[in-house]
Amino acid sequence: MISITLKRGKEQSLERFHPWIFSGAIARINGEPQEGDVVEVVAADGHFLCLGHYQIGSIAVRVLSFKPIEINQKFYDQLIAEAYQLRIDIGLAESTTTTAYRLVHGEGDGLPGLVIDIYNGTAVVQMHSVGMYRDRDLIDKALRRVMGDKLKAIYNKSEGTLPFKAALNPQNHYTWGKPDSKEAMENGLRFLPDWEKGQKTGFFVDQRENRALIERYAKGRNVLNMFCYTGGFSIYAMRGGANLVHSVDSSERAIELTNNNIELNFPGDARHAAFAQDAFHFMEQAKEKYDLIVLDPPAFAKHLNVLNNALKGYRRLNTKAIEMIEPGGILFTFSCSQVVSRDVFRTMVFTSAAKAGRRVSILHQLSQPADHPINIYHPEGEYLKGLVVRVY
Ligand code: SAH
Repeated sequence: MISITLKRGKEQSLERFHPWIFSGAIARINGEPQEGDVVEVVAADGHFLCLGHYQIGSIAVRVLSFKPIEINQKFYDQLIAEAYQLRIDIGLAESTTTTAYRLVHGEGDGLPGLVIDIYNGTAVVQMHSVGMYRDRDLIDKALRRVMGDKLKAIYNKSEGTLPFKAALNPQNHYTWGKPDSKEAMENGLRFLPDWEKGQKTGFFVDQRENRALIERYAKGRNVLNMFCYTGGFSIYAMRGGANLVHSVDSSERAIELTNNNIELNFPGDARHAAFAQDAFHFMEQAKEKYDLIVLDPPAFAKHLNVLNNALKGYRRLNTKAIEMIEPGGILFTFSCSQVVSRDVFRTMVFTSAAKAGRRVSILHQLSQPADHPINIYHPEGEYLKGLVVRVY
């Protein structure tokens, strides 16, 4: 196996089990690894530190194990079994009312570069590293062993997520089985996640608990769900007894998905309307009065160097929402940018509130659910932040 020697002192973050090795920490590479190879990493004095997938870029190695083991079928069987057991323990994998959940969340499940979402027995597998992609057959086998007859199909959706320089040209396709049905459930509500054409794996399972919270606030309110995608927040608000629900997304396809999901749960319900419009444009022109607003924008900042611009966007959006919301209104506001820390996010909402000149109190501080676990040594894995505030 090819081994990589770190510069003196650069082993410290690995002794604290951080699962990434940056290229700047490397003193020398003893051999010529190909992207995706399993490599051994040793300290400057030669002692073993970890094994991981090699990749070209600023993150040079993603750690698979801090022990000298084999990365083989047994490795994937064990990690996927552990991930599945966690989802049983938190009441998801065997639930009959929630059949959409995340089974593998990268570093949070000890499998960096791998995401697997389950939709009513269909596993949507998304690889973000060449190493994981090369092990796709082992991963499929592990899934079949661990989930048994609960697994109906495996769909590999790595076309848009692998480093393009690797030139693997993966095609999105079913690698095993056929889906039973394309419908999945979340807390008893019905959804049609579109894993073949939709964003990410087809649905944002990470907002499940936050969507459930909106149901408790929706009664009698006029709800504006900005960046609605599949209409998740809207459907919970409808079940919670909202007076009116407006869903907005700039993508026509998202509006179509929202309308389909509303129709599935509340056929012909005139309380709902959906608009394919830019968020800023919609809010500038809005005529309706809203007293419950959701802001769940896409990650405006994917890298630190664009953080300031992204924060401007978040501030503009939040200021506008706080200005327009009725007194006593409730705002659910989120950021899913990994580079926006919890503190920075809260300061952004603070600045927006002050700019709007309204009294604002925090009711809930929201995060990602337990099927998106955060590896304690990898704080970068905490990406979803939300605040629920009351605006007077
Ligand atoms: N709240 C959703 C997830 C939102 S994902 C849920 O619970 O599932 C972010 C959405 O923002 C995407 O659907 C994207 O199409 C939409 N979007 C991106 N830029 C936008 C803009 N400027 N105006 C309106 N929608 C936008």
